[in-house]
Amino acid sequence: MAYRSIEMNLRVGCPIRCNFCPQSTFLNSDCGTKKVLSAEDFRVILDNASYQNAPIEVYFAGMSEPLAIPNWFELCQIAQSHPLVTYFSIFTTGYKITVEQIKALGQLNKLYLNVHVGDRQDMPGFDEEIWDKLWAIKKYIPLVHFEEVAFDVSKFTEINKKLDQHGLKYHFQPIISRAGNLESVGQVQLSHKKSNCAVTCDKVHEKKRPVILPDGTALACCNDYGCELKIGNLLHQKWDELDYKKIIAMQKNADSGLPCFRDCHLAVKDKSLTSKSLDLLNSWLVRTKNRLSTSIQ
Ligand code: SF4
Ligand code: SF4
Repeated sequence: MAYRSIEMNLRVGCPIRCNFCPQSTFLNSDCGTKKVLSAEDFRVILDNASYQNAPIEVYFAGMSEPLAIPNWFELCQIAQSHPLVTYFSIFTTGYKITVEQIKALGQLNKLYLNVHVGDRQDMPGFDEEIWDKLWAIKKYIPLVHFEEVAFDVSKFTEINKKLDQHGLKYHFQPIISRAGNLESVGQVQLSHKKSNCAVTCDKVHEKKRPVILPDGTALACCNDYGCELKIGNLLHQKWDELDYKKIIAMQKNADSGLPCFRDCHLAVKDKSLTSKSLDLLNSWLVRTKNRLSTSIQ
């Protein structure tokens, strides 16, 4: 059976407040009725996602720092012990993590850790103490990856030096407009080229990794800080009932108002629609030609 993925957004609102993240859009959106995910609800969501014994991958990521809730470790243990979860990952800045917690995470063999590092200027709530704990992450967590988050290339160099000192591998994560939800970073205005043709993306076709808010609301993708791409609720519905078809249909209409048309870096022109339109045009031309030749005879 094919894998399913879910991206768990453990709380509404992130205390890190990075200047390249549209948190105010998220907080002002219709983002559900619960602020923090409970262990009880997480179990129901996992069961609904793995409906009909499908193996699942869980990503603790979304639009908020996963470690900024009191019960995050309990949720990791639930993911670890669920028989159908094959793998879970945490995308984190290492927010207030302790060496003891790092050691405990090292015992969870389904975990893949992804650490985003930056600085206080771009990420005001970033916990600088993480630099002193990188040795523990490297020592105790077998599967770990580091990402450098910076808009300014000079900062990138500076942060890389720190990671180099710890012998850590990293890759650069460029800033994106998050489907037009971010207007600017500092003084720099981001481009918001509006697409006026049908688009598509692998988030709603191949990948299908819905972002699940604490009240179970499922969003089609993690660029949707305005919560405009609702496809169902995984607390009350099974995986198969999530309505991707609605978003796919709306992506064919550039006037539908979806964030997909606001310069999303993952949106691509819908070529299938273009070739379908050409097919229709061709068949109309053939029919017209036949009709004309019949009337001439
Ligand atoms: S840590 Fe992540 S979710 Fe939180 S403000 Fe920064 S980019 Fe946004
Ligand atoms: S086009 Fe962009 S905003 Fe729209 S669903 Fe795909 S990834 Fe999300």
